[in-house]
Amino acid sequence: MSLAYAVYIAEPIPLNTTALVPNGDRRMFSPLSITLVQGEHDAVLVDPPMTVEQTKAVGDWVAASGKNLTHVVATHGHGDHWFGAALLAERFDATVVATAGTIGQMHRNVAIRDTFWDALLPGQIPDAPVTAVVPDGNRIRLEGHELTLVEVGHSDTDDTSVLHVPDLDLVVAGDVVYNGVHQYLAEAQGDGREAWRRAIDAVEALRPRFIVTGHKNKDLDDDATRAIAETRRYLDATDELLSRHDNALDFFHAMLERFPDRLNPGALWGGATALYA
Ligand SMILES: [Zn+2]
Repeated sequence: MSLAYAVYIAEPIPLNTTALVPNGDRRMFSPLSITLVQGEHDAVLVDPPMTVEQTKAVGDWVAASGKNLTHVVATHGHGDHWFGAALLAERFDATVVATAGTIGQMHRNVAIRDTFWDALLPGQIPDAPVTAVVPDGNRIRLEGHELTLVEVGHSDTDDTSVLHVPDLDLVVAGDVVYNGVHQYLAEAQGDGREAWRRAIDAVEALRPRFIVTGHKNKDLDDDATRAIAETRRYLDATDELLSRHDNALDFFHAMLERFPDRLNPGALWGGATALYA
């Protein structure tokens, strides 16, 4: 029996701030991609969303698939990709899994929850205990097919991983690869961008045909070659324009001019202010 996958996009939600992005946009979270890897009867969910409301909607989507959810996978520690994990695991009696590095980062994100996540989304994030366990050899099985969590180190945060599904030529890449959305550069200081490039190389070495990125424009396909090339191009432009501009605002406008079609310039602005801080 062969596998299939489906993607649910959680639409952007506003951040709790009146400050606008310099282009006049309201500050928003980027769209979130939630992936369901499906067998005949069972399924594995990758990167559950963040708020109670989003998590309920994703749970209803999983229920509508008619599949038995066995695992909830988190690729990295950013709360927007896992705060709903415990709720979904409880609803479907599934096991939450992640690499040891990601579990460490989950604890770090819980520790900054009051000052960071809840400040951005007051009252919207559920109780989010870290219930994830490290699966044997970073592998799980879906009806006899092997799915592997591949550790790729720093990408848009520390200790990230991707889920490789060889039987679908698929990588569910979390935030290692982006697809039509401004990349989160707030943790890309110092050698952060070089490390991110190595993480992309590691994904490419898996030779996927399809990549589901943690943040994608839903109008775009999952072509792996294109998404990898575009993610690298964004990092290269970041290097070039950082060296050319001495302030966040000029850098922001130059990046926006280079990437006019990417969603959520607010994410770029957040990264720009962090890089010039
Ligand atoms: Zn993310």
